[in-house]
Amino acid sequence: MSVMISTWRMSYIGMVKARRNYGLNHDLDQALAALIHDVENDPRFHSVGMGGLPNQQGIIQCDASYMNGTTLAYGACGAVENVVSPFDLAYLLSKEYRFNNFLVGQGAYDYANDHGLTIGSLMDYATWKQYTDRSNQDMAALKAYDGHDTVCACMVDDQGHCVVGTSTSGLFMKHPGRLGDTPCIGCGFYADDQIGAAAATGMGEAICKGVLSHAVLQRIAQGEEPMHAASTLVAEFTEILKSRYGKTDAISLIVVDKQGRYGVGTNVDFAFVLSVDDQPVRTYVALADPHGCTIHMDDGQINVD
Ligand code: ASP
Repeated sequence: MSVMISTWRMSYIGMVKARRNYGLNHDLDQALAALIHDVENDPRFHSVGMGGLPNQQGIIQCDASYMNGTTLAYGACGAVENVVSPFDLAYLLSKEYRFNNFLVGQGAYDYANDHGLTIGSLMDYATWKQYTDRSNQDMAALKAYDGHDTVCACMVDDQGHCVVGTSTSGLFMKHPGRLGDTPCIGCGFYADDQIGAAAATGMGEAICKGVLSHAVLQRIAQGEEPMHAASTLVAEFTEILKSRYGKTDAISLIVVDKQGRYGVGTNVDFAFVLSVDDQPVRTYVALADPHGCTIHMDDGQINVD
């Protein structure tokens, strides 16, 4: 069985493309790239790639990752500017097996440029207007968290091979140079063919505190069923943050294990896309619940991205 799961409604068309692509050549890396490129290239999605959300200085800085569950090779980039597909850069960095797997800032840009990746501005008029409108407001009242979302996808094929990929422009109005969970291994993503693949979206600082993508896979390795592992991990970790830190932030987690069983955990209402073999691609909504979450068909009635 081949199973693919991805974050937010924005990944639906990308998932359809990924499934079509997989049907042609059974290559998970190409399917993953098809999904993430679709979201990165669509300026209507203001939190990933083209038309992404700028930082406090009006500059779009992106984070992305890729991991191969067979070899454990991974690549990641952070706070990179003007690279049209940050995911492609992460994928390329995963081929640097011994070192230089995780590059940030100017060094990441230079690597992309030197290796012939497409370079160009990600800014469009809508994004610039959004930024200037916000900048004209009282800056002290602006929270970095106002607007975000990461495209994440976890995939497993019928041989139990797993891959994961992520891409985001991170938090709107973040401090220049800020990194969230998305490019940080174990936090925003992890894949291991002996267990499965996992990825996270939401407030990166909160997700990193629990190293949640690795943590959920460890629970599955110890015998928990993926849905139970993901939903209870997020519910329990949310309570830990509340008790230790006084508050928490949005956290959503997706996972698929090597047998093709999927799981979702969230402490906010969250949409995800699922594709199982040749069955129709479907969007679902996970509704947060103090003990886990409940999964519903997406009928468009719930206000979630
Ligand atoms: N996790 C991303 C970050 O913190 C944002 C998101 O997924 O909403 O940069």
